[in-house]
Amino acid sequence: MDTGLPCIHCGLCLHSCPTYRELGSEADSPRGRIYLMEAIEAGEQEFDAPARAHLEGCLSCKACETACPSGVDFSARMDKFRPRLAAAHRLAPGRRAALLVTRFPLLLKIAARTARLLDLLGLERLRRLLPGLGLMPGRKRKLRASGLTIGSPGKRSSGLRVALLQGCVGNAVAPGITRDAREVLERNGIAVVDVAGQGCCGALYAHSGDRERAAELASHNVRLLDAAGLDHVVTTVAGCGAFMREYDSLLAHDNLLSGAAQRLAGATRDVSELLVEAGFDPPMHPLTDIGPVAYHDACHLLHGCSVAEQPRIITRAAVGREPLELAESELCCGSAGSYNLEQPSMAARLGRRKAAALGASEASVLAVGNVGCILQIEMHARRAGIDAELLHPVELLARAYREGPSPAAASSRLSKIRRR
Ligand code: SF4
Ligand code: SF4
Repeated sequence: MDTGLPCIHCGLCLHSCPTYRELGSEADSPRGRIYLMEAIEAGEQEFDAPARAHLEGCLSCKACETACPSGVDFSARMDKFRPRLAAAHRLAPGRRAALLVTRFPLLLKIAARTARLLDLLGLERLRRLLPGLGLMPGRKRKLRASGLTIGSPGKRSSGLRVALLQGCVGNAVAPGITRDAREVLERNGIAVVDVAGQGCCGALYAHSGDRERAAELASHNVRLLDAAGLDHVVTTVAGCGAFMREYDSLLAHDNLLSGAAQRLAGATRDVSELLVEAGFDPPMHPLTDIGPVAYHDACHLLHGCSVAEQPRIITRAAVGREPLELAESELCCGSAGSYNLEQPSMAARLGRRKAAALGASEASVLAVGNVGCILQIEMHARRAGIDAELLHPVELLARAYREGPSPAAASSRLSKIRRR
């Protein structure tokens, strides 16, 4: 694995790092972690519990890569080191639980329904304090997708054929996002093909140091999706999308699949990214009555995929005005895959920090392009007594389409007006 250019130890990445910002210690910064890994590899530093804690504290948020002027590939360095971390001790219970739900998403559906029941009994405040259940979506987020459909395509076919990555976690707790993404894409003339048998993208395994299992899962998806003859694979979960863009390096050694992996990595798009790239119809009646709307950058969209402008464009079209910028929008909220389950203390510090920024913005809706961030920020917002609604930009766009006239109705009204 190519780990990129050498670190010149300039320190320009330090303030972009959430753990450095919280703890202020060099050992919990990107530069400190690079030093530590180099010293351990050179046999100059013991691979002891404190050293492991500094490395395991990394959220893999990639913010340091965006900040680094020397192009240091921090993630590649960490990924190379992770099997060593994983071998040093058994996986944290939180990560084991997260890996379990990638195999059995039904467990997550049961947890989401249990959380909903507790909320209906008026126990949401208590439930938000419970590990695992506290992260489940609140009553405002429907567990079943809305029965309302968006309507017929508003523009002629784009000629694009895409598949939506079903995802394991996101689809179990927030199926409405996938459903809205499908309808919005179809509404804009993009054909969505069902590709049955898709599995977990493998990101959680790679971040646990199990690149072998991650490669197995990636190979399965590459075979399946490449054979479907698609223009793009579309994701609504930033972490999955960022990892799929790495399938080419993950499977570079595989003579049979490396070409297909490269194609798939190049064809992966976030839903906002594709809508902007292909062109989308702005809704005729934006959601002007929902109060101030802010936008938060999910790390894996911003730092992992360089997707910053497109979700803002979608949000702006949906609500008819510029979304507010959340203070420290580029700083990780503490979700980071299964980080909030395995490093609950640091994750909670970052979650509280994000909730405070949301409260200060006075937004009543926060748009976020990643379900993990939605759950994490919602939990900390509720704990802080903040009632803002957390929505994916594509959910906002779908809502604006649904609440306005259908394109067919609008064009018939237009032709009636013209006939008069
Ligand atoms: S990772 Fe990049 S920004 Fe950070 S110290 Fe090294 S060279 Fe500087
Ligand atoms: S990936 Fe994120 S948490 Fe890890 S060192 Fe870089 S900025 Fe810090």
